[in-house]
Amino acid sequence: MNLQRIGRAEEEYTTERYCDGCPTSLEDGDYVATYFCDTKWGGYVEGKLPTMAQQESYCLTCYNDRIPLPRKGTKEGFSFEVLHHDKENGVYRFEEKGVMRFSKEDEGIEWHPPDVIETIFPFTVNELEYETTPMSAYLAALKHGIDLRGYVKDGELQIPDSAVPTAREIAKQNSEYSSRYSFDSDML
Ligand SMILES: [Zn+2]
Repeated sequence: MNLQRIGRAEEEYTTERYCDGCPTSLEDGDYVATYFCDTKWGGYVEGKLPTMAQQESYCLTCYNDRIPLPRKGTKEGFSFEVLHHDKENGVYRFEEKGVMRFSKEDEGIEWHPPDVIETIFPFTVNELEYETTPMSAYLAALKHGIDLRGYVKDGELQIPDSAVPTAREIAKQNSEYSSRYSFDSDML
């Protein structure tokens, strides 16, 4: 497969970089797995994007060598990148080394990431501070005790009602110190 370079919205950053899946800070020379896709939700975006774009960068603890739950209808994948930090001017820059994983539009299973978010949290994807991608929804579920890969039945994702109370309980506990998903825990 020969993919063209997948552009970033920003090429250079002047603030410290963190993994988008955990609190690990990224240092000069660190390798990251950057997730790219053509579908996301939240803000003004409702699904399909005109083109694939880089969305999130994960440390190699959060990325476990595969697209966890490839989504039918989404082109998505991971590219391998190295972070460079120029200590003179403070600028952070990612250097793309190549695509590691890719899932085509007709590959994967049927699932709707906004439904996953709304199963776990007492609000919609539009109320999240961050946009939701298939990867970010997968990780959000995982952190709340739901590994979505265990709930695929006949090619579709079906989260049983019995998994929800535990996820909401974890969300409630986390709400006090997580800025990514901040809300009033009384809503749960
Ligand atoms: Zn991480």
